[in-house]
Amino acid sequence: MKNTAREDYRIVITPRRLGDLGWMSISDRMASSDIERDTRERCEEMAEQVKRHVDNVGSVEVQFTEVHTCSHCFLTWEELTAEEAANPSTWIDEHSVEGEPVCCDKAIAEFRTERGIPAEQQDGAP
Ligand SMILES: [Zn+2]
Repeated sequence: MKNTAREDYRIVITPRRLGDLGWMSISDRMASSDIERDTRERCEEMAEQVKRHVDNVGSVEVQFTEVHTCSHCFLTWEELTAEEAANPSTWIDEHSVEGEPVCCDKAIAEFRTERGIPAEQQDGAP
């Protein structure tokens, strides 16, 4: 029979959204000119407050998830694997290499320019 034990207890505190002012709610973008910086500062302040005012705290740390997006098209950043770059059904063209972005032409052109890789063939070109 399978025994279940609960261990490694933690308390997860989620910060209030920047635009949630309590008495009214606006978009985070209206409440802040730099959402990422202001959210990080809010979390660090909250962590300090927890350390100072809450009994029996073992440790407090601010954790986050990194999200990678393209600066040109804002889609999630995805790159070709070595296998995809070598496979005609998934590569951009025969010059594709591992790590090449796949989201948009601008990201591909930027990647290729940085590395001296020949530009992507446009549709209709031989
Ligand atoms: Zn892109």
